[in-house]
Amino acid sequence: RTWSPEESNLAASIADVVANVLQGTKRRQLEAQLRQSQKMEAIGVLAGGVAHDFNNLLTAILGYAALVHGQLHRDDPTLEHIDEIRKAAERAAALTRQLLAFGRKQVMRPRLVQLGAIVAGIEPMLRRVIGEDITFRSSIASTATIHADSGQLEQVLLNLVVNAREAMPGGGVLTVAVLDGTMTPSAGHGDAVAAVVLEVADTGTGMDRQTLSRIFEPFFTTKAIGKGTGLGLAMVYGIVQQSDGRIDVESEPGRGTTFRVSFPAAAGQAGPEPSPAVAPPSASRLGPVSLLLVEDDALVRGLTAEMLERSGCRVRSAACGQEALTMVQNDPEPIDLVLTDIVLPDLNGRELAQRLTSLRPGTKILFMSGYSANDGPSPLDGGEPIALIEKPFGPEDLVAKIQSLLGAKAQPVSE
Ligand code: ADP
Ligand code: MG
Repeated sequence: RTWSPEESNLAASIADVVANVLQGTKRRQLEAQLRQSQKMEAIGVLAGGVAHDFNNLLTAILGYAALVHGQLHRDDPTLEHIDEIRKAAERAAALTRQLLAFGRKQVMRPRLVQLGAIVAGIEPMLRRVIGEDITFRSSIASTATIHADSGQLEQVLLNLVVNAREAMPGGGVLTVAVLDGTMTPSAGHGDAVAAVVLEVADTGTGMDRQTLSRIFEPFFTTKAIGKGTGLGLAMVYGIVQQSDGRIDVESEPGRGTTFRVSFPAAAGQAGPEPSPAVAPPSASRLGPVSLLLVEDDALVRGLTAEMLERSGCRVRSAACGQEALTMVQNDPEPIDLVLTDIVLPDLNGRELAQRLTSLRPGTKILFMSGYSANDGPSPLDGGEPIALIEKPFGPEDLVAKIQSLLGAKAQPVSE
């Protein structure tokens, strides 16, 4: 039968009311999303900043510990204490790296990688991590490539798997899958694009809504003191954002949890793993190398200069880009290598490098950083690949890196 005019009117106003309610709900959802992302952004800036300063302090602690270590006699009982200082500082450095990742300040080396291949590659390790009580299933159904940092992807997967294991103290099933899919960019609007999806599902405790709303915050943990740091998912979140991906979670108390991480698919063939520059591991002395050090943090500058001098380098130091340029203009002495911080108070490291190499063509540049400023053009974007040493580093790392850059020039002359 056909509707009477009254019925039609009624239906139309009901539809209006429903539409309004839905719109209101949608708006509130969007507002909540915005507030949440602003909060995460603010915490990220804070965490990234703290971590950056921390890295400088740790560079000094580790560096001076290594210098003292080098001065002591082999059977000096103090050596053990120095080792403990070093171990503690290295643990602190590992935590700092997680904070940097959350603040999206981790140095990132993206390239075309096949997510499936990376997951397959660390599967044996995952099996060992999860132990006997848990049934492990994996399914890799995608050969698509994405633009990301393979080390970071491994960290993401490892963190999700460790959390899943911890959510299944009485055993259960852990499923890791890689599949083709689609995603809308994390802002939630715009067209869906082809994506590669990493799924990590467990049959563990699950989470209530309240827990679920806070899991990505740094230091949020429901685990006992000493058990959880609350940094795992914060790091995952930062890495996923940094790689233009998105992360979604489905969870219900008592019914398990599924994390779904999507990355935009990128066209092209996965390249080979860049071969790390291998340097002779034991050589801790350099040949007659002349070096310009540019670093604004006085503690790190002093320490680095000392490490370099002890390895046989001639070192001149500058606290900012301008000072370095003036030095080079006024001093005819050759420079083999410039070791510079990426973030300087006046110029960024990339700019400084360009100006220095136009003054002295052929000068090698080595950047130091614990921090790749993701806002603004990253010194790692574009241009030729750069040589980089990450803070905190010790004398051995530094010398090995310099040797790999300078080759024969830096080999110590045998006496
Ligand atoms: P941590 O593992 O150190 O607690 P994370 O950032 O990795 O820190 O995780 C934060 C919190 O999220 C955990 O304490 C836990 O409450 C919750 N969580 C994460 N993954 C799962 C999971 N798979 N199942 C249940 N709860 C989880
Ligand atoms: Mg964790």
